[in-house]
Amino acid sequence: MTKTDRPDLLVVGAGLFGLTIADHAAQRGHRVLVLERRSHIGGNCYDELNEETGITKHVFGSHLFHTPNEKVWDYLNRFTDFAPYEHRVFANSGGQAYSFPMNLSLIAQVYGRYYSPEEAKALIASEASEIDTDSASNLEEKAISLIGRKLYEQFVRGYTQKQWNTDPKELDAEIITRLPVRYDFDNRYFTDRYQGQPAQGYTAMFERMADHPNIEIRYGVDYISERDRGLYEGVPTVYTGPLDEYFGYELGRLPWRTVDFEDEVLDVDDFQGTAVMNYNDADVPFTRILEHQHYDPQAAQNKVSGKTIISREYSRFAEPGDEVYYPINSDSSRELAAAYKAKARDEEAKGVFFGGRLGNYAYLDMWMAVNSAIHLYEQSIDPLIRERSSKRRRLTASERTDDRTRELIRLINVLMEVLEEAGEPLRRDEARRRTARRAGVSTSGMGFVITSAQAEGLVKDSLRSGLVSIA
Ligand code: FAD
Ligand code: UDP
Repeated sequence: MTKTDRPDLLVVGAGLFGLTIADHAAQRGHRVLVLERRSHIGGNCYDELNEETGITKHVFGSHLFHTPNEKVWDYLNRFTDFAPYEHRVFANSGGQAYSFPMNLSLIAQVYGRYYSPEEAKALIASEASEIDTDSASNLEEKAISLIGRKLYEQFVRGYTQKQWNTDPKELDAEIITRLPVRYDFDNRYFTDRYQGQPAQGYTAMFERMADHPNIEIRYGVDYISERDRGLYEGVPTVYTGPLDEYFGYELGRLPWRTVDFEDEVLDVDDFQGTAVMNYNDADVPFTRILEHQHYDPQAAQNKVSGKTIISREYSRFAEPGDEVYYPINSDSSRELAAAYKAKARDEEAKGVFFGGRLGNYAYLDMWMAVNSAIHLYEQSIDPLIRERSSKRRRLTASERTDDRTRELIRLINVLMEVLEEAGEPLRRDEARRRTARRAGVSTSGMGFVITSAQAEGLVKDSLRSGLVSIA
């Protein structure tokens, strides 16, 4: 796009949330500037080719796309094809690989024989009877009430403690409801209607989302320092960085979890036979091992024979300066997060909206990030940009203006309204027809607005911004 420091919309963060917003605004003819402090697109969904193995590596942890939402699925399909992929995870405990999440295979492995669905339900109901699900007030109680203490101890306690660095008794009960409990042999991690992996990878999908003349991305730029220098004041802004960082941590630091990845290229064709193996025992320091080839749709053609790449994932509390990954939803963080969220709502009056995983301090799957970005754009951002841009473009006639110029200004203003309301590029003759109708003049009367020198500048502006196109 034309380089500008006064875009119609500023987006902080070139992750999934930010780019969904940027794409929507660009499609409506608004000029969008995206500031990204990292050197690459895609936020935590970024992936890149590992040259040594020919495998695409998910740099910030494995990302598997799934959604029940047709609108989100159709939207992303505009930027990529999805290769069929259903995610499966195995749980490693005491040197055995168990079928996961809880299903009849896991029960057979743990309890030593096949249980039919009805038998398994009766077994787990009796194992879980010590706690009533409705009265469970934390993750530990909720998990025990759903699967019983035995399975909790073996598969949840150690893993959860390692993953959150927090006693499961202090964690929000809802976290565990991400894990399904099934009484059949279905061991898919997700059962959403739409699932798959972007055929050329996530980074390629993001590049297509940002490929629009109205979008400029500046990498290596930190919004906070730009803002503190007084730049972009008054420009409608969508902020997808950490909630507490925006406010200079003035109420204290929110607890975040970060993840360290230990990558290793191995001289074997296949290291673990599956994409993700969780390590559930407390004495194994990492939470899981990812083997990237198993979710890379291009690995079948590109992978170097006899090589694979794995990542061991270690979880810990984020320290100042760390990249933050997950909000920690615990008793102590809830109040602080609510206080920051209230401040964030106050910022909306200044035209700054918070979104995404970091900006909302929320555990969002990719589809949820897209869905909430579309929602935010339609509900709040588009109306705000229109309001600001119509104020900016509205011309007023001075006292001394002659009648002919006064009429010209009136028609230009109507033309601008028409273009803004259309929200998409209009052909020149269509713009003229609609403006004439609304202004109560003949279309030939509109000709002089479109061609007159005074009008030309404004029309050129709107052409540049993509609001009007001449076919
Ligand atoms: P992000 O991707 O974090 O993007 C925010 C961007 O803002 C970043 O690029 C950051 O650098 C930038 N930024 C922050 N502050 C500033 C600033 N001050 N100035 C400029 N730029 C700034 N979801 C799934 O659906 N399936 C999965 O399998 C899955 N696996 C996951 C595994 C891990 C390890 C993690 C952490 C998340 C996973 N997710 C998964 C969730 C998924 O990553 C998020 O839904 C998605 O990244 C949300 O996008 P976002 O734009 O909100 O955040
Ligand atoms: N969990 C667990 N054992 C496992 C996998 C998950 O106890 O083997 C718990 C853990 O508390 C985790 C939650 O279930 O935070 C949700 O798991 P999920 O795999 O959805 O977490 P993600 O990898 O998406 O962060």
